[in-house]
Amino acid sequence: MLERTLVLLKPDAVQRGLMGRVISRFEDVGLKVIGAKMVWIDEAFGKKHYFDVAQRRGEAVLKRLLKMITSGPVLAMCLEGVNAVEIVRKMVGGTEPKTALPGTIRGDFAHVSYEYADKKDIGIKNLIHASGNSEEAKQEVALWFKKDELHSYRTVHDLHILE
Ligand code: ADP
Repeated sequence: MLERTLVLLKPDAVQRGLMGRVISRFEDVGLKVIGAKMVWIDEAFGKKHYFDVAQRRGEAVLKRLLKMITSGPVLAMCLEGVNAVEIVRKMVGGTEPKTALPGTIRGDFAHVSYEYADKKDIGIKNLIHASGNSEEAKQEVALWFKKDELHSYRTVHDLHILE
């Protein structure tokens, strides 16, 4: 059940200087950063990454999201750990900051509602993207990272999960 998952610290997280605090949360639970790079993506790449958002949430949301995700660099990371996909989603919290639980990254660092974002016609600044399931994680890691950008190394946490 050792898995890899994609995490993006979106432009709002980078611009707010929250990269270190967010990465610390993942390191604290023992997840391993096996790849990391800062990328300023264009709209075409954004459409590849968010290929299913129009269908799930509508064209208007995709348009706002693309504007937001291309507004500055993102920090892309591949994290590895036991059930990493599920653990990271749990730590990230719900999509809407207003209802994301306290203790989650979105719940602790943002507060805006869908209603407000829709009225203002802006993307929801919820700091972070994390793969939704194992299949999505494999596709997204392959989209964002070349094989030689992912690294295999030992951490002290490995002593406790590899025995
Ligand atoms: P998640 O990122 O939690 O997996 P989705 O994949 O459904 O959620 O949506 C992608 C991103 O689109 C969200 O993280 C959020 O930034 C943005 N978004 C979703 N719904 C809205 C909305 N109604 N208004 C503005 N932005 C939205």
